[in-house]
Amino acid sequence: MLERYIDDLIALAEYAWSHPEPGFREHECSRSQADYLREQGFAVTENVADTVTGYMAEWGHGRPVIAFLGEFDALYGLEQRADCAEPSPEPGQRMGQGCGHHLLGVGAIAAGLLLRDILKERKRPGTVRVYGCPAEESGSGKAYMARDGWFDDCDAALTWHPANFHMVARGSSQSCIQCYFRFRGTAAHAAGAPHLGRSALDAVELMNVGVNYLREHMEDTDRVHYAVTDPGGASPNVVQAYAESKYLIRSTTNPKCEALYERVKNVARGAALMTDTGVEIVFDEGLSNTVPNNALEAALDRAFREVGAPEYTEADRAYAARFKATFPLEGQLTDLPAAALDRRGLIDNIRQSELCDRYVETVPTDRCEMGSTDVGDVSWVVPTATANVNCYSYGAGCHSWQWVAQGKSDIAMKGMLTAGRVLARAAELLLDEPDILKQARDELDARLGGEKYKSLIPKEVKPHWFDD
Ligand SMILES: [Zn+2]
Repeated sequence: MLERYIDDLIALAEYAWSHPEPGFREHECSRSQADYLREQGFAVTENVADTVTGYMAEWGHGRPVIAFLGEFDALYGLEQRADCAEPSPEPGQRMGQGCGHHLLGVGAIAAGLLLRDILKERKRPGTVRVYGCPAEESGSGKAYMARDGWFDDCDAALTWHPANFHMVARGSSQSCIQCYFRFRGTAAHAAGAPHLGRSALDAVELMNVGVNYLREHMEDTDRVHYAVTDPGGASPNVVQAYAESKYLIRSTTNPKCEALYERVKNVARGAALMTDTGVEIVFDEGLSNTVPNNALEAALDRAFREVGAPEYTEADRAYAARFKATFPLEGQLTDLPAAALDRRGLIDNIRQSELCDRYVETVPTDRCEMGSTDVGDVSWVVPTATANVNCYSYGAGCHSWQWVAQGKSDIAMKGMLTAGRVLARAAELLLDEPDILKQARDELDARLGGEKYKSLIPKEVKPHWFDD
């Protein structure tokens, strides 16, 4: 029964909402959660994979080893006041929980406590692990943890994400590599001695032009995004001696992503050659594609049906209506989950209800959703499945001020507790029906076809961040 933990869990989530922290610096969130799990009798290992804020909390012994994955990092630029249905910054904050990770981490803890109680009651072997995974938004926390072997002895990994729908997540996600291109040239007076200058900014611009031509010759599902992170100063009358761009390169699988990365690097080298500058390529992040696991998704689906969507009160609906009204209805209808079975019914629900008040049936698919997650790296090593649990009104999606504003609402907390119950119930099914674990492992082996997990992050790269 979750009831006896509810006050503690809500307090932990509210604390994480009030202490939004960037990747690998989630000291307050990590400490509060690790301390709580220790109080609850879990053995906690901190600084997992040199991430400083990553932890692993363990209870029990023997097989199966069930992992619940949590997160807690926040996002810059989303410092929104709670419950306020118009953009209004929270005083003193520079960040906000725009992806609901304050709920995600605590929902995983809820699942861990429930499964611990089940094992205790049944006096049977089994190990519960709660992983506090840092730096999901930027930093690739789980990818370092997977690379360094922290999931190698797990039998299954279950996780969830706050969402606008109650459903099992389906399909794959993209591999990605993020890196910096640092061009160095020679400064000179732009009018008096331009012939002596070698412009690093020219190199940045030419590289972008080259990559924009490359797009014609990539697969439709490839993506390349860039930002000019240092244009070389604000003075047009100085030939810029230094300029920097940051690139994010995505494809559907790790080998394809690495191949595309090589092509982008060649464009950078070409730009350097054209401008007589030098280029330094600095690796930043790498995430693997998600390997779907239909066997584990089916267990999660059964568990979610049993637990069901939470009951919402009239007060919840009135609250959600204020936020739904801040986002155009047409926008909401263009962002339907691709795997939803009854799309018509879902559209009706979005039109008629303030928030998702039903379980949305989905069908298995291998389709690659655009976007990346570090859950992908875990899914290469251990069968992994994700539940999406509604924590908000219909309307704006993740990384919005609306999600930050609703982060402490009853709706959000109901979603978090539902997630804990769903994950724990799915884990219980795995205990009762060990065949599912075998099928899940066989499916993972078959999907990998003998390929071994190799992180996209080079061995020598350690968890890090650059100035935000
Ligand atoms: Zn997220």
